[in-house]
Amino acid sequence: MKALCWEGVGRVAVRTVPDPRIDNARDAIVKVTASSVCGSDLHLIDGYVPGMREGDILGHEFVGEVVEIGPAVRTLAVGDRVVVASTIGCGGCWFCDTDQWSLCDNTNPNAALSERLWGQAPAAVFGSSPLTGGFAGSHAEYVRVPFADYGVYRLPPNLPDDAAVYASDAAPTGWMAAEMCRIGEGDVVAVWGAGGVGQLAARAALVLGAERVIVIDRYSDRLDAARENLGVATIDYQRADVQEVLEDMTAGRGPDACIEAVGMEADNDGGLGLYDLATGRTGQSERPVAVREAILACRKGGTVAMVGVFAGLADRFPLGALMHKGLTLRSGQPHSQRYLPLVLDRMARGDIWTDYLTTHSMPLSDGPFGYELFKYKIDGCLRVVFHPQA
Ligand code: NAD
Ligand code: ZN
Repeated sequence: MKALCWEGVGRVAVRTVPDPRIDNARDAIVKVTASSVCGSDLHLIDGYVPGMREGDILGHEFVGEVVEIGPAVRTLAVGDRVVVASTIGCGGCWFCDTDQWSLCDNTNPNAALSERLWGQAPAAVFGSSPLTGGFAGSHAEYVRVPFADYGVYRLPPNLPDDAAVYASDAAPTGWMAAEMCRIGEGDVVAVWGAGGVGQLAARAALVLGAERVIVIDRYSDRLDAARENLGVATIDYQRADVQEVLEDMTAGRGPDACIEAVGMEADNDGGLGLYDLATGRTGQSERPVAVREAILACRKGGTVAMVGVFAGLADRFPLGALMHKGLTLRSGQPHSQRYLPLVLDRMARGDIWTDYLTTHSMPLSDGPFGYELFKYKIDGCLRVVFHPQA
């Protein structure tokens, strides 16, 4: 089959690779009909997450058709049109039992590796580094889905692939981010990053009761998309002092909750980025620019939800502000199995909409071009969805 593979830092290519097969009685094989790019892929491609191997297949956000099931799969049938959770959960460990699927104890075959870096191992994620399992991803004609009874959901027929694909990952992540903010009446929520995740977090914050949501980025087309589709306020951080504007908008108090949806490749043109430039902390090291801004801007006693991905150690982290302002910092990969049915239901009810996020749709053979558009945000690119069967 054809698959889009990691070829080395900064390089991806479409290769011919062996078809996946059922390795375990609880596996299913899904024929991928749509697979989205995600900011997390950029961290892998750009070499910020350690451990990637040449030939690793990217992609973790996808929909498709079940074409084969292992003998122990109980809930699926060949021919089902499905969306698949980005994180892989076993359904039987304490973490899965308590609905914390991205922390599953059983699905990461390289647990020893991540334990050395992080103390304990998280669940496996499709198309990611060996640190999170090293499973083949969905930018391919077919993908093997382990523990298929626990991450695969049938799609309503009226939900098109290019909209449903976000139920895998971006929508659960955005929902979880907003839920972590424990939004109360009258709350103001600020969101750093107007990518797919930031947009869906902003919408979720409104659904969960935020009075006002403010989205921060530097790409005018992304900020326009947020204003037009979500009715939120926006700040272009290259044209304004974010903290000052947020204070002005909240009578000097700061937002009640701040969501960071940027991750470790944050642009450091903002004020605090000057620290990084001055100390040479740029290049291939993690840049917690947006988290820092969020911590400094958040009102005293507020919550910062960090869903941008980080992999190692971050420098110049405002521990003092976190402590003295009594902030709560929350984070995590999405418990996709917990939020996926919920976001599908919200999509069906018209509370969440994702159609505007797919600015580019193309065959998988154009994968390298698609990542070029997405990485540099060219041509108004918000998300690219690949169609491996096209
Ligand atoms: P994206 O690349 O489309 O969007 C990131 C946005 O952040 C861009 O628009 C960029 O301009 C903006 N940005 C960069 N520096 C900034 C700064 N200093 N201040 C404000 N905005 C800034 O990516 P995405 O798909 O929306 O993903 C966003 C992040 O969420 C990534 O780190 C990704 O890895 C992460 N993510 C996490 C999970 C999870 O499991 N927690 C799931 C999906 C994605
Ligand atoms: Zn588990």
